[in-house]
Amino acid sequence: MDNTVLDIKSMYPEEIKAVLKELGEKPFRADQIFSWMHEKLADDYADMTNLSKALREKLENTCPLTSLRMVREEISKVDGTRKYLFALPDNNVIESVWMQYKHGNSVCISSQVGCRMGCRFCASTLEGLVRSLTASEMLEQVYRIQKITGERVSNIVIMGSGEPMENYDNVLRFVRLISSEKGLHISQRNITVSTCGLVPEIRKLAEEDLAITLAISLHAPNDEKRKQMMPVANKYSISELIEACRYYFEKTGRRLTFEYALAKGQNDSPEDAAELAGVLKGLNCHVNLIPINPVRERKYARSEQEAVLAFNKRLEKYGINGTIRREMGSDINGACGQLRKSYLDDSRENKI
Ligand code: SAH
Repeated sequence: MDNTVLDIKSMYPEEIKAVLKELGEKPFRADQIFSWMHEKLADDYADMTNLSKALREKLENTCPLTSLRMVREEISKVDGTRKYLFALPDNNVIESVWMQYKHGNSVCISSQVGCRMGCRFCASTLEGLVRSLTASEMLEQVYRIQKITGERVSNIVIMGSGEPMENYDNVLRFVRLISSEKGLHISQRNITVSTCGLVPEIRKLAEEDLAITLAISLHAPNDEKRKQMMPVANKYSISELIEACRYYFEKTGRRLTFEYALAKGQNDSPEDAAELAGVLKGLNCHVNLIPINPVRERKYARSEQEAVLAFNKRLEKYGINGTIRREMGSDINGACGQLRKSYLDDSRENKI
């Protein structure tokens, strides 16, 4: 074997077996190593006490374990929500969120460092895309948080920074590893992948035989308004997107979620609700209404509470199920990507 280091925490058991074979080791060790990494959440080969010291050293040199360093933790006094800033092995920083619900603990993870989709209301994309995350870097966000809080994570939403469908292979690997019965065994039904609507990837995902929930960031009832909010709307029309969603439902039987961020005077009128209902007609879906989180650098304002309620009522009248998303961690939160953005701004100022 050459000197390249291998990302063993992103590997399926079969792939670990192949590595062990190359190292001249017994393949059955793969299951032990997998369980140490993904079930017992070991951070260090030194903890893997049923492996020989010689093997642990060999692994340390060839397959160093990916781990994240916590840079900041903010805990909400309102509802216990926690926001984390983690440093990756290359010192890029990402953010993740832990939320407590009646039905269990949920972690929101990032799939990329930054984002290049350019949505005009979002803070994650302000500095563009740096790079995609590996599967192990996505897993580590969950593992680290479970270790810090000491509480089991039962739900995962891939709704942090980044566009998961632009990091397709690593996101799928993440989903398969975290739902593996030899790992944390989080049910695929409790995993949600949120996309701004990359049509070819949605169609591809439909074929993967997964039981995850797909959430689509729609945010507008027609192409014209959507183009003002999301550059991706110039590439794919709403009708193409909805066709792909129908296909996803046909293939997987999984009900879709549509996210709709309400911005004052932009997409929150009763006419917008009626038009949205027309777009979603006949599709097995649920709409999450999110009063937009204002971002300093952006011009969008949050809809009035009254408008949000009226919007939801109007949808209901047309037979579309909607939920107004409860705001979590309002005292620490800010919008997606704001924690990282403020950290980057701070560290730049300190350099001057
Ligand atoms: N790129 C993916 C996932 C990350 S964003 C996607 O677009 O779905 C997760 C969700 O938060 C998306 O629905 C996104 O549109 C929404 N979002 C981003 N900034 C927001 C803001 N300022 N207020 C409310 N929702 C926001």
